[in-house]
Amino acid sequence: MSMNSQGRPSAIPAAGGTDSVTGTVTGNRGLQIEEPLIFEQDSAGRCGVDLPEAPKVASRLGGITPRARIGLPGLAEPQVVRHYTRLSQKNYAIDSGLYPLGSCTMKHNPRLNEKMARLPGFADVHPLQPVSTVQGALELMDQLAHWLKTLTGMAAVTLAPAAGAHGEMCGIMAIRAAHDARGDKARTKILVPESAHGTNPATAAACGYAVESIPATADGRVDLDALKAKLGPDVAGLMLTNPNTCGLFERDIIAIAEAVHGAGAYFYCDGANFNAIVGRVRPADLGIDVMHINLHKTFSTPHGGGGPGSGPVVFSEALAPYVPVPYVTHGPDGFALVEEAGDGPAFGRMKAFHGQMGMFTRALSYMLSHGADGLRQASGDAVLNANYVMARLEDVMTASFEGPCMHECLFDDRFLKGTGVTTLDIAKALIDEGFHPMTMYFPLVVHGALLIEPTETESKAGLDQFIDALRALAERAKSGDAAYFQGAPRLTPRRRLDETAAARKPVLRWVPPAPAEALAAD
Ligand SMILES: *Cc1c(COP(=O)(O)O)cnc(C)c1O
Repeated sequence: MSMNSQGRPSAIPAAGGTDSVTGTVTGNRGLQIEEPLIFEQDSAGRCGVDLPEAPKVASRLGGITPRARIGLPGLAEPQVVRHYTRLSQKNYAIDSGLYPLGSCTMKHNPRLNEKMARLPGFADVHPLQPVSTVQGALELMDQLAHWLKTLTGMAAVTLAPAAGAHGEMCGIMAIRAAHDARGDKARTKILVPESAHGTNPATAAACGYAVESIPATADGRVDLDALKAKLGPDVAGLMLTNPNTCGLFERDIIAIAEAVHGAGAYFYCDGANFNAIVGRVRPADLGIDVMHINLHKTFSTPHGGGGPGSGPVVFSEALAPYVPVPYVTHGPDGFALVEEAGDGPAFGRMKAFHGQMGMFTRALSYMLSHGADGLRQASGDAVLNANYVMARLEDVMTASFEGPCMHECLFDDRFLKGTGVTTLDIAKALIDEGFHPMTMYFPLVVHGALLIEPTETESKAGLDQFIDALRALAERAKSGDAAYFQGAPRLTPRRRLDETAAARKPVLRWVPPAPAEALAAD
């Protein structure tokens, strides 16, 4: 197939020819349609609507004449509809199938949540409306805050942060505000385990702290002795994920919290993996001072090529005075919003307005429709599913750490040793089988990581199909068929991409062939 200047197919094969990749005359595969970019489908003068002739009026451009067309492609309405429908069908989502992306908690978003979020009283409110006209919306925020505090056992919450990473920043800023309030300026470091999500060290660094890495033990947990050795009067806090990114519960967490507090530091918990423990363990009981919760992961609001995030942060008694504004209170005339930090020690606000109302509505709808017992069952099912996957794959793939695991199971590439097949190859071959790949090469503490998080969404039958596909691939790799993997994926609209070039030199803009040609076409 011919490629345009950006390396994308630009035209269907000439009449009578066949596409070298697909073997079809059109370049299409089945009902998956190959087509040029929308700009390349441009036909000057073609239009989706029949507009009346423009009246002849004097130009107000002061003698400036257009040098070229403005660059909008001309297409008929059915062409536009088909183009965007086809694009949407190239997307993969939890609504299409199993999405085992470790650490991301890609779980079903019940449609009831969508229905609730679209109620006009929630969907159509404006953040500048007088509070007397949005009492229901404020009550919803108040109830969500209540659930989050109850599930975590924490004293206070802010709903404002717009994602997990934003919540991390909020938490670390609260920790700094607490040290500042005591006049303690000597604390310049944040400790972060090796297995941490990249946002943790990035947050600490963005807040002006030096990041010190804590090694993991051979069983995939934080090395308590190494942690204790690094604690001192220069440490502001520890950022720890629990369950951690290896899918394991940090068994020493109480001792970790005591050591951190003993050194005068605060304990930040990355709560992205909260889905594994909801209704079973309260983070406050583990000695955690501050934790973000990804509503878009644990509480099933859409994410991943979709909706906005929402990263509320919960705080212990010790950090409660530093919670940023705004927050909802019960005033004399119903619900009220505190919008000004005043003279208190809190550091102001994290973002304009009040947070992601649509996410709040979906999350509370999820909580209320599940009930406390349903939330507890969801975390249990998520953990059971991950352990089932681990148990059924352990003999053909190499589990990095001894189980049982929590909500996700971690394999590394030792089972591929000497086969010529890599973690990336397995992921590509999995796409041909109709599955979104697992998280690859993260966490960094093991070589060639394959991190699988099935969530509670999947049935046993769905998991078995996925597991059977992975078992077959693992066995094929061991049988010496490296060529099969190097050719994968075979069935996708695009095959192997130069991912480094795509990340380092992304081409985000279509450039017309040449200005002269474009003018001539008018
Ligand atoms: C997803 C995730 C984050 C970041 O959350 P965002 O909402 O994507 O900003 C942080 N830590 C861990 C462990 C995560 O899985």
